[in-house]
Amino acid sequence: MKAVYEGIADEMIRLVEREQLKDQSLWRLVTKQFEGTPDDGDHGWRGEYWGKLMRGACMTWQYTKDEELYAILTEAVKGLLAAQEEDGRISTYSREEEFQGWDIWCRKYVLLGLLHFYEICQEPWLKTQVREAAGRHLDRIIDKIGEGNGKKRITLASDAWRGINSSSILEPVVWLYMLEPKERYLEFADYIVKNGGAEGFDIFQAAYENRLCPYEYPVVKAYELMSCFEGLLLYAQVKGDEHWRQAVIRFADRLLESEATVAGGSGCHHELFNHSALMQTGTKYGGLMLETCVTVTWMKLMWKVYLTTGDMRYLEEVERSAFNALYGAVNTQNSACGPEATFDEPHYRSVYHRALAENGGRGQIFDSYSPLRRGIRGRAVGGFKSMEEETAYCGCCIAIGAAGVALVSQAAAGDSAGEAGPVPQRAVGDLVGEAGPASWRTAGDPAGGIALNIYLPGRLRTRAGETAVELSVDTAYPMEGEVSVLVKTDREVSFPITLRIPSFAESCQVFVNGVEQEKVRAGAFLRLCRRWKTGDRIRLSLSYGPRLVYGMENPEDHGSSRHVAVLYGPLALARDRRLGEVGGSVRVGDGKVSAHRLEDVEIPCQCGFSVGLGGEEFAMIDYASAGKTWGQDSAMEVWMPVKGR
Ligand SMILES: [Zn+2]
Repeated sequence: MKAVYEGIADEMIRLVEREQLKDQSLWRLVTKQFEGTPDDGDHGWRGEYWGKLMRGACMTWQYTKDEELYAILTEAVKGLLAAQEEDGRISTYSREEEFQGWDIWCRKYVLLGLLHFYEICQEPWLKTQVREAAGRHLDRIIDKIGEGNGKKRITLASDAWRGINSSSILEPVVWLYMLEPKERYLEFADYIVKNGGAEGFDIFQAAYENRLCPYEYPVVKAYELMSCFEGLLLYAQVKGDEHWRQAVIRFADRLLESEATVAGGSGCHHELFNHSALMQTGTKYGGLMLETCVTVTWMKLMWKVYLTTGDMRYLEEVERSAFNALYGAVNTQNSACGPEATFDEPHYRSVYHRALAENGGRGQIFDSYSPLRRGIRGRAVGGFKSMEEETAYCGCCIAIGAAGVALVSQAAAGDSAGEAGPVPQRAVGDLVGEAGPASWRTAGDPAGGIALNIYLPGRLRTRAGETAVELSVDTAYPMEGEVSVLVKTDREVSFPITLRIPSFAESCQVFVNGVEQEKVRAGAFLRLCRRWKTGDRIRLSLSYGPRLVYGMENPEDHGSSRHVAVLYGPLALARDRRLGEVGGSVRVGDGKVSAHRLEDVEIPCQCGFSVGLGGEEFAMIDYASAGKTWGQDSAMEVWMPVKGR
């Protein structure tokens, strides 16, 4: 399917492409790390940036098909391949220091970056070279990591987080096996799973047994944990293993139950799972939360679980995270970290400011943490590492954001196999071949129809069998619930169009050429199966208004439940100091809330409302647009304290 969107999703992708992914000096910087051993000194993760950026860039290219971007990526890949050593090693650690700290994690990202490029690579000779390089890179790891013969146990190959960072290499190991079905790759994947993911605790089995929530595991680093489960899902799919597939689904269900927040993403204590559903209104912690790496990985995991289950709850979490936490983290106003920002190393502040001055005072394109209670953006640069003798830097969240922004274009609509869920269980033989995991995202058979998952305005082009089909989608969703879809086809053709009826819709009507459809239900997919012809029109009319949600009761924190937030469709609304008071208590009164769209809001935003609550009126805007100056002048909050509750 070829999608050309308008509106925020398209704007975000193109902004990131222009400002970050086409920045050749950034590519030179992250590629250059592999020429030396810059991670030896602090056992750092300077080797992750290349692969993370490459993944996001390839996913972006799959949407924009921009030739200049493709040329830049090709050069970046050639640069990396040039750094590969005789025995296949690609690492930012020396041989003396290798397989400690974040070395395997970085090598995982090298492998992922190569495989993502392999998927979009146009030149057969380069494609072959990339796959071979990826294979030799993994071979070297398998020679050193595993069971017996003086090998190092994978969970001992890092002293951080019980080795879950290392175990998360599972995903690209399985992916490479799909491209090149060598037994040793599958055996290595078997080994990683059997080893349990974490040192001294089997995260995979714990998820299957389902007695604990992830925040009760002995290791709660959110991003790395979810990365392991992305790998486990691919492993289960390739092996046709229902036990491990169930483990991932149970893990995701536990996350939805215990870790979801009103703005999407997760982790309300720094970068950790901490029962975020409860702790998002906690009054005893004012530190960093909702890491952008967590948001993106949360979206990716939920999307993959959606594909294997067809259950809308996971898809809605992708949407919620995109429109709130993720877009909120995109630096749309060229802001920069101010005096309140904290740095892990004191001298990093001067590194940051030197780089900032060179960039005309414009900060990094992605922010790293997002507030929910009164706070500001731009409080820290996650995973900050200085490079090139303290003249340059990058960070984990800066490097991951592009993948999240591009994922929205993939998740919004697709050629779907229908209600049963787009990814059927297939035997290993069918999965091995040219097509990597990304080809599953819009799974399979075009005669299976088109699914509209997240309503973005724009045009979708695909084929139903032999017939070219185009859908023009006209909507101001999610600010408004009216969606119009105009069909264009070469000739009359039968195929289903599947519409997601969001769970938050209070009521919904669907018309095809003016005829109202039956069995339209919020929280379910509506499958319209008929002979379509040019001029056919689908009209979807979703009605929803503001919803008030309360903080949960916490016996250890009585202030926690004394918070309210206002949601509007998939959007969390926020107060922003540029528009009025922030941090002051609100009255809830009878619990009724109203919201009237403001025509003119004096600051850039997706939408603004005059919210009526407890007899008072105040302005709120979409969460993603709030706080964008990264300073106290745009202090913001979603969770508002409640007077006398
Ligand atoms: Zn991060």
